[in-house]
Amino acid sequence: MNFTKLPQLVDRRGKLKSKGTYSKSTKTITHRVWHHSLTKKNLAGSDAARFADYHVNTLGWPGVGYTFIIEPKNLINTPNGKRARIVYANDIDRRTYHVGNSNQFSLGICVAGDYRYDTMDEATLASIADLHTALVKDGIGKYDKAHNEMPGYSWKACCQYNYRDAFDWKGSKTPSEPAPAPAVYIIQEGDTLWSIAHKDGTDGVQVEDLINANPGIDPTKLKIGQKINFGNAKEVIVQPDKKEDNETSERGDESIRSIQKTLNSRYNAGLIVDGFNGTKTKFALIKGLQTELNKQFNKKLVVDGKWGTKTKAAIVTVQKGAKGNLTWILQAALYLEGFNPGSLDSIFGKDTESALSKFQKAKKITADKKAGKATFTKLFAE
Ligand SMILES: [Zn+2]
Repeated sequence: MNFTKLPQLVDRRGKLKSKGTYSKSTKTITHRVWHHSLTKKNLAGSDAARFADYHVNTLGWPGVGYTFIIEPKNLINTPNGKRARIVYANDIDRRTYHVGNSNQFSLGICVAGDYRYDTMDEATLASIADLHTALVKDGIGKYDKAHNEMPGYSWKACCQYNYRDAFDWKGSKTPSEPAPAPAVYIIQEGDTLWSIAHKDGTDGVQVEDLINANPGIDPTKLKIGQKINFGNAKEVIVQPDKKEDNETSERGDESIRSIQKTLNSRYNAGLIVDGFNGTKTKFALIKGLQTELNKQFNKKLVVDGKWGTKTKAAIVTVQKGAKGNLTWILQAALYLEGFNPGSLDSIFGKDTESALSKFQKAKKITADKKAGKATFTKLFAE
């Protein structure tokens, strides 16, 4: 097998959390199905071990639902350069639960990260390409598909990266935006209300919505072929940035809600306070940064929310001991990138310094604990 010889591959079969075993497929694998985890790639929970815990403990599956998991935050030095680690989690012939009724003939590959918002780095793209090349040589699968190209799953926000960037993706389209959820969904193998809900994160279907839309069903005893209603949940499953009409809700992340509220009150950002980290929040944060640079340092930037050379040139360094709105913007930006600076208190103290230093190390820029041009570029341009 070529894939087992990849230097960035670690064999964790039988070593991740499990409860029982997946049965053997009775069909040959024809499809390589690409997923993302919908957990931001830098967060502690974005790795094979945590996906295994979640799949076993919460979803009640026999083990982690993919054969391979690519971990962008675990970099491996290989003779070919830096690569994201590939965890080999289940035997190739196991019908793990990742695409319901298509599990029998599909191999599940998950790239850790939430590519609605995360950007994919070179080391991860290279690992996708290496794994793909090896699987093709090994004759494992014929077609590459996104999760939402498999029967019944067109509404899934999975995957949301374009692996055509990594390899020639024959016989398939560019991964598409998810279709609106159907009114009625037919349960497939391995589906649980939690897997259906969780997969779309804070702005998608919630378990509570599904329970409310399906009075009388037992969420722990779903049967293949059973019909469930999406109900109100289908309203919000489309892309988050289209949620203009939504009322302020208690959804999403509390700190992100507070960031959005501050951006609204301080900079008139007009954001929906949904606790969800989308492009609009990022734009508003850049606008805030431009406003502060103009006000405090007499820069003459156009306040357009776009990261460009002029904004970059105008950046002033923020470091320990600093206080005020620029520090707050730094803290908010770090938080949105998954590096928690403690409280968003506008004071550059120990916790902010430590979050900044971790961010700089993760982004491979000089970890000088000062937020200057390089740091803000990583925070806002990528
Ligand atoms: Zn998926």
